[in-house]
Amino acid sequence: MIISKIETIRVGQFPDLIFVQIHTDTGVIGLGETWYGASTVEAAIHDHFGPLLIGRDPAEIERHWQTMFRLSDHAGYGGAELRAISAIDVALWDIKGQVLQMPIFEIIGGGTRHRIKVYNTLGVYGDVTDGYDVWTKPVEVAQRLLDQGITGMKMSPTDFIARESDGQILYKDDLDWALRPLREIRDKLGMEIEVANDAHAKWNLPTALRIVREMEPLRPMWHEELISPLNEDAHVRLQDATTTPIAAAERLMTRYQHRRFIESPAARISMPDLTWTGGISEVKKIAILASAHQMPIAPHDCVGPVNMLACAHIAMATPNVMIMEYNRAMHLGWYRDFIEPDFEIKDGYLMAPTEPGLGTHLKKSVMERSDVRVRTSNERGEAWLMSNKRYTYPPPELQQEFVESTDRRKSGAGAVYYD
Ligand SMILES: [Mg+2]
Repeated sequence: MIISKIETIRVGQFPDLIFVQIHTDTGVIGLGETWYGASTVEAAIHDHFGPLLIGRDPAEIERHWQTMFRLSDHAGYGGAELRAISAIDVALWDIKGQVLQMPIFEIIGGGTRHRIKVYNTLGVYGDVTDGYDVWTKPVEVAQRLLDQGITGMKMSPTDFIARESDGQILYKDDLDWALRPLREIRDKLGMEIEVANDAHAKWNLPTALRIVREMEPLRPMWHEELISPLNEDAHVRLQDATTTPIAAAERLMTRYQHRRFIESPAARISMPDLTWTGGISEVKKIAILASAHQMPIAPHDCVGPVNMLACAHIAMATPNVMIMEYNRAMHLGWYRDFIEPDFEIKDGYLMAPTEPGLGTHLKKSVMERSDVRVRTSNERGEAWLMSNKRYTYPPPELQQEFVESTDRRKSGAGAVYYD
């Protein structure tokens, strides 16, 4: 089996969303996805990775990951290239699962569970207005989730008050105003519902230290990105100042950046975003690394429908997954316009996918939309950084002579391909 074609699919309605479909010569199609900077991801796929993968065996997932990463790392990996790798990785796992007729989680370790607890990140889309309602009727919003069996939620109470000074100064009356919804929830419902605080890296360290101290009596589930994780020493000081776990978080890329927050006392929860940090292959490695430090992972989601399915496979096969993020507003609002079958949320749990592979595919109607834009790679091209034209290589005739002078050199075995 070989990869015959790679398509990227974008729609005008969601300029940040990009799906990847990897086609094979046997007709099996794998689906992946990522979010943000979709046009740069599209370019990374069609300029670099698509031409590199055409004609190769889709089963060699680890080899493809390593080759694409090495190619990207040459000029700094943590951007559109890595999001492209993430989407491609998921699509390759989808193909493998379909070929083996097994859900992906059965291949990457087997079921350690068959459902995972979710918490709801309060969002606003269409008829679902949790993200607004929590400011005016917080207890009602929390109770509505509890009635559905969802016992955790995430909000961003301090984002709005950070705007005035760009997070450089914190006023006590602003913070009291921002924390009023959470205080009301604790007054009326006690600890019936867990509430996580996501600050989207909007504060500096001194203001973040004040926020964690002020919020201590409210017992949040975790603090997420009060400060940007650019400096783990600053994070250590933040974690030292509170008994609440610090989660670090979606803007860390690959095992290499997560490692620094897993091995140091800078965080107590690891929160990789599968569609940004390297796909199923990489999140599995991050989870294993975290497990060696007795740390849980709580996969991030706020992106698109395929991510939920991909994370479901990680969650089913990985013992140290703590909980899964879920965004009710996005799910009910638009995810089902793009995929079928849908993933299942039942009594506050994300259920194990049952179909082979990822367990979903793009709806036919997506390709028929008036705002759809599809780009295709179907020809083999050169990965120039790895190619024989590299300036430190000897001239072609000398290369040939060298390789052919012994059988050992003819095998060309290695994780990364150079041809
Ligand atoms: Mg976040």
